[in-house]
Order: sequence, then C-alpha cells, then structure tokens
Amino acid sequence: MVDIKEVLVKEFENNETPIDRDKIRRILAANDGARIRTWLSICSRCGLCAESCFVYLANDRDPRLSPAYKFHHTLGAMYRRKGKLTKEFLKQCYQISWLQCTMCKRCSIFCPFGIDIAAMITISRHICHSQGFKPQSLAEFSENCRKSGNHMAMPEEELVDTCDWMEEETEDEYKGVKIPVDKPKVKYMYTINPREPVYYPQDISNAAIIFTAAGESWTIPGFGWDCTNLPMFCGDRDLAGQQVRNVYEKALELGAEKILITECGHAYRSLAFEGPYLAGYNGGKPPVEVVHFVRLMYEYLRDGRLKIDPFKKIKEPITYQDPCNVSRNGGLWEEARKIIPYIAEDFRDMAPNRDYNHCCGGGGGIMPMGPQYKPVRMASGRVKAEQIRATGAKIVITPCHNCFDQINDLSEEYDLDVKALALKEILVESIIIPDHMQLEDA
Ligand code: SF4
Ligand code: SF4
Repeated sequence: MVDIKEVLVKEFENNETPIDRDKIRRILAANDGARIRTWLSICSRCGLCAESCFVYLANDRDPRLSPAYKFHHTLGAMYRRKGKLTKEFLKQCYQISWLQCTMCKRCSIFCPFGIDIAAMITISRHICHSQGFKPQSLAEFSENCRKSGNHMAMPEEELVDTCDWMEEETEDEYKGVKIPVDKPKVKYMYTINPREPVYYPQDISNAAIIFTAAGESWTIPGFGWDCTNLPMFCGDRDLAGQQVRNVYEKALELGAEKILITECGHAYRSLAFEGPYLAGYNGGKPPVEVVHFVRLMYEYLRDGRLKIDPFKKIKEPITYQDPCNVSRNGGLWEEARKIIPYIAEDFRDMAPNRDYNHCCGGGGGIMPMGPQYKPVRMASGRVKAEQIRATGAKIVITPCHNCFDQINDLSEEYDLDVKALALKEILVESIIIPDHMQLEDA
C-alpha cells in the first residue's frame, strides 16, 4: 500500500504565482474569532482524537496523521506564522488538507472539548486555494459551476432533453410517469447530482417511478438542479456560496415548498447546514426547508405511500453504509435503519455504526480529484473494507454517490465480493406498482 504522506503532488511543480500574503492575512483575520482561537489554544494534545480517525487507523497509526497534528500543522501554523507562508509549506498543507482528511467530523465527537477539526481544515483549504494550491480536477469542476451552474457543465437544454427522453422510456413500462421541469408550486423541488443526467439517467427515471407511485407533487428545476457543491470542497468559498444560492433562489422562484436532495451526502451538508453560511444568510437556516432522500423514503414507507412486495425483499445479507454527511452530520441514521426491515431480510450492521460509523475514504472531495489519488483512497479505505468484511454482507446499501463508488472500488481492491446499491434501485425493484401505473396490455 502507498504511504499517503509520501504521495507526490505534481500539480504545483509549475506554480509560478507569487504568494499573496495580504490575501492570506485577510482570510486569517476574517476567521480569527473566538471559536477558532479557543480551539487552537484549548487543545491539550491529549491524543484522544487519534483513534477516532480512519486515516490514522488505516495508515499504521502514524502520529502525523492524528487529527490534532493535522490542524496544528495547517491552520494552527498559519496563525503562528502570521500569514508568512512559503510554497513548500502550502504544499504540505495541501497534502494534509485534501489527502489526509475527508472532513468527516468523526474526531470532533471524541475530542473532550468538541474541537471541530474539519472546520479548521476547511479554512486551510480556503487559504491554499487562494494561492493556487488546489486540486486541479476540483478546480475544473468548479469552473464548470461558475459557467453553467453545474459541475458537469451540462446546458439547460440538455437536462430538459434528458428528462424528456427518460420520461418517454419510463412511460413504455409505467403508465403516467412524468418528469416535470420547472413546474411551479410543487411540494418538492428535486435536486440531483450531475453524474445522474450525464452517466446514470436511469436514476432520474427511478426517482420519477417512486414519486409517481407515492403520488408526489414534484419537479426538477431547469437551473439550480446541481445539489452537489464541489467548489465547497475545492476551498472556493465564494463560488460555493453561489452554488447554494442557485438552488435556494430557484426554489423560491418556483414557489416550491421544500428542496429534496437525491442520494448524495455532501449535497446535504452543503444545502442543509453549511449553505446558509456560505450564501450569507443570517441565522444558519436555509430559506426553504431541505429534505434528504432517506427521510422522504422512510416517510413514504411508514405512511404506506410505498408498499413493498414481500416476495421481493432482499434475501442476501446486507449492510448499510452511513454516509458521514447523511448520518453523523445529517442525523438520519435511524430513518435509514427503519427503511431496511421493509426491503431486506438479513441486515447486518457494521461496527461501529450510525453517527460513529467511519468515513468510507471517498469523501471530502477526494473522489472527484481523479485517478492519481485512488491509491490514497484505497489505503485510507482499509478501515471501511474491514468493517464491511466483518459483516459478511454481500450488498452494501448507501444513499451517497461517493460512498457508492468508493465501496465498489474497495470491493475490488480488498476482494470483498460485495456490491453497492442505492435506495432508488432497490425500491423500484421491490415496490408494488399501483394499479394506476400498470399498462393496460401488461
Ligand atoms: S482530542 Fe481534542 S484536545 Fe485532545 S488532542 Fe485531539 S483535538 Fe486536541
Ligand atoms: S475529520 Fe475525519 S478524516 Fe479529518 S481528522 Fe477528523 S476523523 Fe480524520
């Protein structure tokens, strides 16, 4: 396995841009409040956070990978140096901030002072980004957001065409399934991950089947539909704010009652919790309520709006991957576990689980950073691979695109012989299709 501290970052070898110390000092000053000062000064270096961090555990418990080391040697050192940073130092910060921390926030629940390490890594990323030390692929995706509002740069007409195409295909099998775009005054404005219309349009069709079966009032917006926020992970705070504003403002314009998020973890973090701050809203609350797919599916099953065919319940052993931003940071771990008895017979929880579950190793933006960082993901994902293997499960359900891809990669890397499945795929296969959706000649 690769030594993740030695992974060479070639992206900056030609970075000739001079360091802008004024800019660094401005960012440091803007964040120099009581919260950060307290965290930096109160840490007693007790080391209690170390065993909580999957990166530390997976990489030979190297003390340089402990959460406390990471923030003291990034943001802490930036303050100590009063912003006088060198390129060599920023390169080290880049390695720590993007390759050695997924900002999963597990360490914070173990720290006796509740120090939020991920929040400090976020500022470190912001400062690195301001000096051109940023992951190139995340920067390109961010640029796409700037130009088009979504990280795949999909033009609005193409999204509409994809929805029309999926509607036609779906109507061949299910009566009355519509995929409305920009429909005003609906209950849910459904926001998606750009990889869905680009690579997995079937995902949109699956969502439409579920919503139709449940009798939901919904729409996909023609703009402001990208619920992910790659600029947030790239350290581009201004653009990250714009991304969430796109979604909030569209929901307000359409008069949607709520914003619904597809099966994506960091989208939930972005829109439900960090978004209001990124977008400059006072009070930390989004202007429109934000709901994650897991919560809505639980409500549908609980309220009988979706009914499962008992003969279609999954018989193989399954486990559930709690995405950090859906469970620990999003609070939806129990809703997920209430869904599982409806759809599967042999559930085997991981240990630890719920809010204590470990990050899969694909979060914090490392997944879209490209194949050159896959060895890092695989090395740090060892903890997750061992957790999954211990369950004996053959299927891992996870409502998050990053976890989904990471678990499939881990399965190959560690011979786990498991496959990841999203909730949508399972539900479409196992619900009782209501009479009004049955084709006459079926
Ligand atoms: S547990 Fe908290 S106080 Fe102890 S070393 Fe870690 S961050 Fe510092
Ligand atoms: S936020 Fe997660 S990855 Fe980062 S130091 Fe804490 S436990 Fe480790």
